[in-house]
Amino acid sequence: MMKKVIFLVDMQSFYASVEKAKHHQDTDRPLVVSGDPTRRSGVILAACPLAKQYGIQNGERLWEAEQKCPNLIMVPPHMQEYIDNSLVITDILESVTDLVEPYSIDEQFMDVTHSQKLFGDPYDIAKHIQHEIYSKLKVVARVGIGENKVLAKMACDNFAKKKKDGIFHLKKEELEETLWPLPIEKLFRAGGKMSRHLRKRAIRTIGELAQTDVNKIKRVWGIHGQVLWMNAHGVDYSPISLSSTNGQKGIGNGMTLPRDYSEKAEIKVVLLELCEEVCRRARMASVMGETVTLGISGASYDIRTGFHRQQKMSDPTNMTMEVFHYACQLLDKFWDEEPIRRLHISLSSLMSDQTVQLNLFQQDRAQSINLGYTTDEITNKYGKTAVMRAASLLPASQVKERSAKIGGHYK
Ligand SMILES: [Mg+2]
Repeated sequence: MMKKVIFLVDMQSFYASVEKAKHHQDTDRPLVVSGDPTRRSGVILAACPLAKQYGIQNGERLWEAEQKCPNLIMVPPHMQEYIDNSLVITDILESVTDLVEPYSIDEQFMDVTHSQKLFGDPYDIAKHIQHEIYSKLKVVARVGIGENKVLAKMACDNFAKKKKDGIFHLKKEELEETLWPLPIEKLFRAGGKMSRHLRKRAIRTIGELAQTDVNKIKRVWGIHGQVLWMNAHGVDYSPISLSSTNGQKGIGNGMTLPRDYSEKAEIKVVLLELCEEVCRRARMASVMGETVTLGISGASYDIRTGFHRQQKMSDPTNMTMEVFHYACQLLDKFWDEEPIRRLHISLSSLMSDQTVQLNLFQQDRAQSINLGYTTDEITNKYGKTAVMRAASLLPASQVKERSAKIGGHYK
């Protein structure tokens, strides 16, 4: 069987690059995206590579950044534009292969196995994609290449991003020299918590995990450990089935923030991430939810602030941007502008996605949903929510607006 060639295409400093393209007259000035640029206590959400050269980091206060760099350009975030740009990138990737899976707003997987006859070897294809994206959007793309998604993702994060040409092919037969010396934290999905557990048992590098007896790993960490062990060997795993997910309880995800958030733009960025994760899990479990719940609370445990509210959506869904839309409505309606320390989103009133599909009267929506699933099915079975696809499912008014902007995307 022919080895697959999978790419992970990642955008460098995506939000900041999109903003910078709008300020093209100031290419040599550093730029940051910040929650509320009029307030010096605002926080940096994204910094362009030039700003990073000045030592400016995401999460830093605006006034600190200004001290490092007096001629800094500061702009507020424009989420809709980032989503639009992401769709343009999907279009570019789809001109090479129809097997494209948006993974997050600035990362997309693609299978170019059968594009090689037409577009050349993987390196040539990667070059071509970088060129297309840059000439259209002035955004730098990095490409990780591997025979499966895990290798492509690790190729990008650990190697391509550090190379001048932004391209790296992580080959399974070379892992001992390339991947194994890296610290265990660099293993895709090892996560902070799991890495700490592994370190406690003297597994400090990816290679040390790979060389541990898999049965021992299985005994201690179960299926999650086994999957990580396989990943360390460059083997991509079959999905952990979540089909037993309890429909009553719902699927939720929460986050305790590193500090108080008091700017709505910042909160929405976190909210989008939470929605993305919840919807991804819903799709893995083949369910959709009809109710979205948003819980937020303040920093103090003595004085309880915040709220816990839910809303029924117009249709059951597992699409990130639909859920995000309702979550934002709840935030707009109930948030009293007190600083927030903890956020929680959940999707409940779950039902099988099969039931939902059968009951769809709106042809457009059925098609959009199917498109998302088809992409998932073909490329693999991770079940990630295709956030860009989902973006096409925002309420009609916005769809129209966007279709006008990106002609021809909605085939
Ligand atoms: Mg990126």
